[in-house]
Amino acid sequence: MSNLKPQLLMIHYGELTLKGKNRRYFINTLARNIKHALKSFTKLTYNVRYDHTYINLHGEDEAPILEILSEIAGIYAISPVIKVDADLELMVEAALNIAKAKNAKTFKVETKRSDKSYPYNSDYINRYLAGPILKNTDYKVDVHNPELLLKLIIKNDGAYFLGDQTKGVGGLPLGTGGKVLMLLSGGIDSAVACYELMRRGIEIEAIHFASPPYTSTGVIDKITDLLRVLNKFQPRIKLHIMHFTDLQLDIFEHAPEGYPITIMRRMFYRIATKLAKSKRIVALATGESLGQVSSQTLNSLNVINEVTTLPVIRPLIVFDKQKIINKAVDLGTYEISIRPFEDACTIFAPINPKTAPKLKVVRNSESKWDYESQIETILNTYKTLIIEEEDESIF
Ligand code: ATP
Ligand code: MG
Repeated sequence: MSNLKPQLLMIHYGELTLKGKNRRYFINTLARNIKHALKSFTKLTYNVRYDHTYINLHGEDEAPILEILSEIAGIYAISPVIKVDADLELMVEAALNIAKAKNAKTFKVETKRSDKSYPYNSDYINRYLAGPILKNTDYKVDVHNPELLLKLIIKNDGAYFLGDQTKGVGGLPLGTGGKVLMLLSGGIDSAVACYELMRRGIEIEAIHFASPPYTSTGVIDKITDLLRVLNKFQPRIKLHIMHFTDLQLDIFEHAPEGYPITIMRRMFYRIATKLAKSKRIVALATGESLGQVSSQTLNSLNVINEVTTLPVIRPLIVFDKQKIINKAVDLGTYEISIRPFEDACTIFAPINPKTAPKLKVVRNSESKWDYESQIETILNTYKTLIIEEEDESIF
C-alpha cells in the first residue's frame, strides 16, 4: 500500500483572482508572509505559482503547518496533496488507497486536466479510476452528493490527489493594503478592529494615550499582551505611547459639563493626525462602533472627526457588541481586554455625556487654553515600543 501522507500543501488564493494586474505583487507578498510564518520549519521548500502556491513538506508533519497557514491573511484554503506520477496504474493504486482509508459509502472521481497534452481526457480518467474502486470495495458512485470526492489534477509533473481542505481566514495578504495609525485603548473593540484591518491586508502602527497616574501602567502591559496576540497576523508592531495626563487634566478643567469626552477625543484625533503625518501614514483607524457609547453617535463622530483631514477607518462601525465579543473570544484577545485596568475614558467619563455635542460649544471651550503647545510637548516626548513575535530559541 503506497504512502497516504501528503507530500505537498496546495494554497488557494481565493479573492486574489480578482486583482488583475496587481496579482503578482499580492502573490509575492503572500509568499513572503507564508515563508516568514513557517521559518522554523527549515525543511520546507516553496513553489510560488500564478494559480497556487505549493509547499513541499519533505516529510514534515502537516498538522502544525496547517494550523499556522489557516491564520495567514490572503489564504482562502489549503489542500494536502498526494502526488504520484501521472501513470494510470499508479493513479488507480493511489485512488484505491485513498478510498479504503476514507471508509465512506459513496464516491465520485473528479479529474481536471491542467496538462492538456496528457493523452487521456478527464472523463476517461474518471471512469478508469472509478472501475477498480467499484470492483474492490463496497463504494457506490454518487455524482451529486458523494461522501468522498476524489479530486484529481493532472499536471505536467504528475497527478495531484487533493485531500480535505482546511479553511483559511481569507482576506488579503498583510502589507498589500498599506498602513494605518490605529488608536488602541486596550478595550475589547480596538483589538478586534486591528484584526479586521490586518485580515484585509492593512498593517498597523498603534498609538495609545496614557494618563498616569490616573491610568495604571497595567494598561500598557495589557496592550502589549494584546499586540502579542496580534503578532500572529503582523509579526512586528510599533506602539507609540503618548503622555496625555496634563492635557487630560486641562480638558477636565475647561470643558463644560457633558463635553470632556468629546473634547478628549478631538485631542486624540489631533495628536494621532500629526503623528501619522510625520510618519507618512495616510489614515487613522479606531474601534468605534455606532451606538455603543455616547461618543459614538453619528452627531458625535461628526464633531470629533472635524479636527482631522485624514480618513478614519472604523472597521467595527456597524457591528453589534455581541458579534465583537465573539470575535474577540475567537481571536484570543477577550480575556486580556477584560482585565480590570482603568483607561482614560472610564476615569474621566462625565455623568451625562452629550450624544449630540455642539461644535460651537466645543470650539468655545477649546479656545480657552493653549492646547496646541501641550500637543507639541506630547509629540516631543512619546515613547515607542516594538512588539515582536518572540523567536523560538533552539537552545
Ligand atoms: P475599546 O473597547 O476599543 O476600548 P470602547 O467601546 O471602550 O472601545 P471608547 O473607549 O469610547 O470605546 O473608545 C473608542 C475608540 O477610541 C477605541 O476603540 C480606540 O480606537 C480609541 N481609544 C479610546 N481610548 C483610547 C486611548 N486611551 N488610547 C488610544 N485610543 C483610544
Ligand atoms: Mg475603551
